[in-house]
Amino acid sequence: MNSIAKEASISVAVRIRPLTPDESTLRKIVDVVDDRMLVFDPHSSSSENPRIGRHNKRHKEHKFIFDRLFDEDSSQSDIYENATKPSIDAALQGYNSTIFAYGATGCGKTFTISGTPESPGIIFLALKDIFDYVSQNSNEREISIQISYLEIYNENIIDLLNIETNTKKLTLLENENSEIIVNNLSKYNVSNVEDVMDLIIRGNYNRTVSPTEANLTSSRSHAVLQVYISQSPILNDVMENSTKSVLSIIDLAGSERASATKNTGLRLHEGANINKSLLALGNCINALCDNRKNHHIPYRNSKLTRLLKFSLGGNCKTVMIVCISPSYRHYDETLNALKFANRAKEI
Ligand code: ADP
Ligand code: MG
Repeated sequence: MNSIAKEASISVAVRIRPLTPDESTLRKIVDVVDDRMLVFDPHSSSSENPRIGRHNKRHKEHKFIFDRLFDEDSSQSDIYENATKPSIDAALQGYNSTIFAYGATGCGKTFTISGTPESPGIIFLALKDIFDYVSQNSNEREISIQISYLEIYNENIIDLLNIETNTKKLTLLENENSEIIVNNLSKYNVSNVEDVMDLIIRGNYNRTVSPTEANLTSSRSHAVLQVYISQSPILNDVMENSTKSVLSIIDLAGSERASATKNTGLRLHEGANINKSLLALGNCINALCDNRKNHHIPYRNSKLTRLLKFSLGGNCKTVMIVCISPSYRHYDETLNALKFANRAKEI
């Protein structure tokens, strides 16, 4: 972190998932040094003499430093407490906040964001804290919590909680209060984690998944949960303002390149659009963190970045969780994801 106050607050965490059973015989390509640094493709695995690798000039190790690094043994609550909690707190204080899971298909994005009934992910841990906050503050403030859950697929917006509306086109509009409105998108009032769980399970069932050569359950869409938090003082207190904020929790499409899946036709087109949204997101993050004043932020280049226009810059608190696999099978994807994470961090 440099000392100049930055416009945007973006932190980058990397999470390494455990090896899956079918990867157990494959070489590991990441070495965790501490809770911030990893070495990609260390020349020697731990069973060999480490000095040989380090002094071999032809082999180039990559060292990366992030705001936080979570190894294979990290729990869902480790991630929640140490990487994302400040964003939830900021949202409760009235600032828009955004949490992304980025990474190649099969590397742990959905596990991190949604999780399983036994190991609930960020969505549920965050909402639990939000509902606790509501009950602790209900004497002083009237607080309403609503959620929507949409998917961006092929640059189209799909309402995951109301499939019927999807015959209508969902379009993005910006209102005079600097809010992005998605026309016809359904919003639900929620008052406990079970409500949210039911909606997310229904929504995930409606997500577009398509079989590809690279991965049978490859997901080519961005899933965006938005939590709308409105608070107003019950007593007319001049010192206290009403606030409105949006917390966005986003399971991004796989970051692997379209070429890697050897797809043709429709799938290639999907791939091109995914790259467009991810590229646009990367470009916006780059531009936001550029210290030059009045720097143009290219939000208009994709649906995803238009939707997040008021949720990335300014006082917003953004967390990017880059999910990677430790196994040799994902060598290229992991190196690309780490380079992306590094770029997101340096800025
Ligand atoms: P993605 O959404 O990035 O395609 P998933 O979240 O579906 O990847 O993860 C792929 C597989 O690995 C799933 O079976 C998931 O349950 C498992 N997995 C991912 N991360 C972890 C983790 N941290 N601990 C245990 N299992 C994990
Ligand atoms: Mg997924």
